[in-house]
Amino acid sequence: MKMTSTCALVVLLTLWLGFITQATAQETKLKWFGHAAFSIVTPNGKVLLIDPWLNNPSNPEAKDHKDPLAAVPKVDYILLTHGHRDHVGDAVEIAKKTGAALICNPELAGNLVKLAGFPSKQAETDAIMGIGGEIQIADGEVTVAMTPAIHSSSVFNPNAGPNEPERAYGGNPAGFIIMIKNGPTIYHSGDTAYFKDMETIGENYSIDIALVNIGGHFGMEPKMAAKAAQSVRTRLAIPQHFGTFPGIVQNADGFAAELKKLKIEFYEMKPGETISFRGKQRLRGK
Ligand SMILES: [Zn+2]
Repeated sequence: MKMTSTCALVVLLTLWLGFITQATAQETKLKWFGHAAFSIVTPNGKVLLIDPWLNNPSNPEAKDHKDPLAAVPKVDYILLTHGHRDHVGDAVEIAKKTGAALICNPELAGNLVKLAGFPSKQAETDAIMGIGGEIQIADGEVTVAMTPAIHSSSVFNPNAGPNEPERAYGGNPAGFIIMIKNGPTIYHSGDTAYFKDMETIGENYSIDIALVNIGGHFGMEPKMAAKAAQSVRTRLAIPQHFGTFPGIVQNADGFAAELKKLKIEFYEMKPGETISFRGKQRLRGK
């Protein structure tokens, strides 16, 4: 009798553990490192890093001389919206450490290899793409579309001098739409001004989460950032590219107020925070 109940307990425990493991495996995790830097972990466990300036002053994992790269042992893909230093960030070191493949335009990839020492094999794969294109990555689990952005793009040239310009060409700046099987569709705006064709993005992609640059000065001011969220028809708007350094908007209050007028759901992530999704649904309190 005692043996039977022990067996039953073991079976129940195994089933429960299996359920927990499966439930976790089906989740998509979105983490904000501050500024424009996010990671996405897919339900199958693939890791995407977007604009990985992990050493930005907002990232709690970079404070007190801590090494924020220690927190990212595995990365499969690095996505770069454009070549500015607050977006390329720590991409080269992370690529060297993890073997991650680069996703960006060919000019940016070429100059990062030439001028910044990005590992060439990881920058010369099928993942190099152009605006308007879509690629499948992560064994087909993720589709990435590259969208326009109105901004500039250049790569800092360490060889700058009398005969070498300070900045090398970085191709056109971009945004990304990341469509995850059994997960949400996420739009990262990159650095951009508002443009009317955001409405076309909204008509053609079913965006669940928009990560919108709201900092102003170099891109959209909060009011236009809210209009962008409306144009791309996102279900949920999350602000980024603010509060990192002087000269840009220091908090998301203005953006939140404008979104409220437009009746769009708002969520402000804290730097270092991770939120989870089961399917397209955000799991509260996680
Ligand atoms: Zn920027």
